[in-house]
Parts: sequence; structure tokens; C-alpha cells
Amino acid sequence: MKASDNWHGRPYYSLDAYLKNTYGEKLYKIAVDAGFTCPNRDGTLGYGGCLFCSAGGSGEYAVKTAMHPSVARQLAAGAALFGHKRTGQRFIAYFQAYTNTYGSPSRLRLLYEEALREPSVAGISIATRPDCISENIVTLLVNLMGKFPDKFVWVELGLQTIHERTADFIRRGYPLTVYDNCVAMLRECHIPVVTHVILGLPQESRQDMLSTIDHLNQIGTWGVKLQLLHVLKDTGLAKLYEQGCYHPLALEDYTGLVIDCLERLLPHIVVHRLTGDGPANLLLAPLWSLDKRNVLNTIHHTMKLRSAYQGRLTLRP
Ligand code: SF4
Repeated sequence: MKASDNWHGRPYYSLDAYLKNTYGEKLYKIAVDAGFTCPNRDGTLGYGGCLFCSAGGSGEYAVKTAMHPSVARQLAAGAALFGHKRTGQRFIAYFQAYTNTYGSPSRLRLLYEEALREPSVAGISIATRPDCISENIVTLLVNLMGKFPDKFVWVELGLQTIHERTADFIRRGYPLTVYDNCVAMLRECHIPVVTHVILGLPQESRQDMLSTIDHLNQIGTWGVKLQLLHVLKDTGLAKLYEQGCYHPLALEDYTGLVIDCLERLLPHIVVHRLTGDGPANLLLAPLWSLDKRNVLNTIHHTMKLRSAYQGRLTLRP
């Protein structure tokens, strides 16, 4: 295996490795539900959401504190769950549920600052759609970076695929050019971008997925999250699945695709995720994905057998 010394023994540049290299420790993510909705759900673009999106808008892991739903209380409740861990006492506040820039800059500033003021928060990561990032919001993020110079601000963009026909099918609601322009705007202001990609979308071939990775290399994303397409209850995808019109990936197919993508991915791009977290109470398929440890072990074992490593196909010999 040819891998970089700063990858801490993994055949790819994991988020854990990046955090250890940069902050000297692992930082745990605490998911926050700041009460947003999404233009794909509130009627601005549509009502049903993306084909695969659950009613919770990917926010099922936020610690719900019904009596005190403030960001600070959610972070405190989330941090308490990590109390038994011995390493890492600082956290990433992950604005995860729905579209976390879908609000006025003044409202966003209050929410982000509430997280950044917490001494245990090393930085914030904001999950959103590229069509919900305006110049005003970029200016807000730049101002926050100036006000909290010891903390970081990352933006996570749900791209999923570069292919317009798939984007239409999953009802993403914006064209690729919107993503490209958004990445350029964020990069110009030195705001790191993490791009979400879903593997196993309906009607996508292996070559389609690899083309998406090629585009990320070229556009200059800082990080990537590779996720398995989960079939969750009460989604449009669930209907297709129940009608026999969508067949989820098998474990070996998924892990093989992940490795193919990693071999294609430039070696400096930070890999934030290699599999998804389908909530057990909502997941219809594939059920093998519930055993996340097994998925990761299979990827690591197969990479060893294949002598595979991130960027193998993009690095010069
Ligand atoms: S953009 Fe995100 S939150 Fe909105 S419907 Fe799609 S997956 Fe759900």
C-alpha cells in the first residue's frame, strides 16, 4: 500500500486523521436541529422533499430537548452522551437537520454564534443546499471566521450526483451549475466545502458515480462524504422499493464502489464519511448497513487485498 504518513495507518485521508493532524485530537460531532425547514419541503420548490429524504430531514440524530430546544442546550445534551469517552473533549457543532442556511442572515448569525461561543465547540459544520447560499450568507460566514479566529466554519453541500437526469429523478431541485458557482464563491472566501455524494442512486451506473468523483477533484472540494442510498420509511424511494422498482445495493457492491471512488479521489481531499447512518427505526433497506462496523471493516479489508489507496489512479507512478 502506498499511503501518506499523515493518514494514521488508513489507506485514505479520513476526517479523524485530518483532525488529529490539525487539532491534535479527535473531535466528536454533535448534531443540532436548529428548527429549519427546506425549500424542497415548504412549497418554495416542492412539498415532498428529495426522493430519499425522511420527514426529519436527516436530523434524526440531533438530541431533542423539547423543553429547551436552544442550540446551547442541544450541544450540552449531546456532549453529555460523550462523557464516557476518554479522548477528545472538544466538539464540532453539526447543523444537520434540513437546510441550515435557509433563513435570514440575522437569524443565522444568532444560531451560529450561539454554537461558536461554547468553549467546548472547536467549530461548526453547516449542512445545506447550494441554492440556499447567497453572497450575504457568505459574508456572514466570513465575519464569523473573523470574530472567532480560533474556531472553524465548514459548509456541507448536498450534491449527491453531477448528473442532471438523476437530479431530476430524485427531485433535488437545482442544476449542477448552482453547486459549481457556490463552491467557487465559498472557496474564494477560504471556507472549506464538504460535498455529499450518494452511491446507488436509481439508474446510475458505476461510471456515472466515478464521473461525479472526477468532478469533485476538478471543482476543488475540500472534503467528501460518500453515503449509501438508504430506503427510509414514508419516502418516495420507499414507494419505489415496495413496488419492486428500486433494488438497493448489496454490501459487496457498495464497498467495491466506495473503493473505486477512493482510488479516483485526489489524495488531499478529506474523507468525512464512507457509509451512511440510516436511523434503525426508519430503515427499510438495505439492512446490512445497520452494521456500520462490518461495512467499514469490509472496506478496509478489501482495500488491503486490492492494494488500494486514495488517489491511486490519480497519482503519478
Ligand atoms: S434538500 Fe436536504 S432536507 Fe431538503 S428535502 Fe432534500 S435531502 Fe431533505
